[in-house]
Amino acid sequence: MNPKTREDTAKFAEMVANKQGWVVNPDTNFTTMLLDGLTTNWNRYGYYLCPCRDSDGSREADAAIICPCKYSFGDIERYGHCYCALYLSKTFAQSGKSPEAIPDRRYEE
Ligand code: SF4
Repeated sequence: MNPKTREDTAKFAEMVANKQGWVVNPDTNFTTMLLDGLTTNWNRYGYYLCPCRDSDGSREADAAIICPCKYSFGDIERYGHCYCALYLSKTFAQSGKSPEAIPDRRYEE
């Protein structure tokens, strides 16, 4: 499997955002850090493990936290951004607000 580059991951993130009606965080420095994290995770694990969370050891165990994670849909609706703040709702992006820390709902269930 060819390693992914940051550019590949940026295309992926744009594709996800377009499909879901979200926006990729326009804070370029911050987003680059997350894209690098996702790229490293793809090249390490073979899937886009969330760059803000740790692997539980297998693709099956990590299924809920492969980007876009299971929690992103509800978090973006509720808070205007996902846990990492890679994706923002259009409304949140237009508000000019900065994303704040939100709870990780991964272990809540
Ligand atoms: S919180 Fe979810 S949607 Fe946001 S970067 Fe992590 S895996 Fe992707």
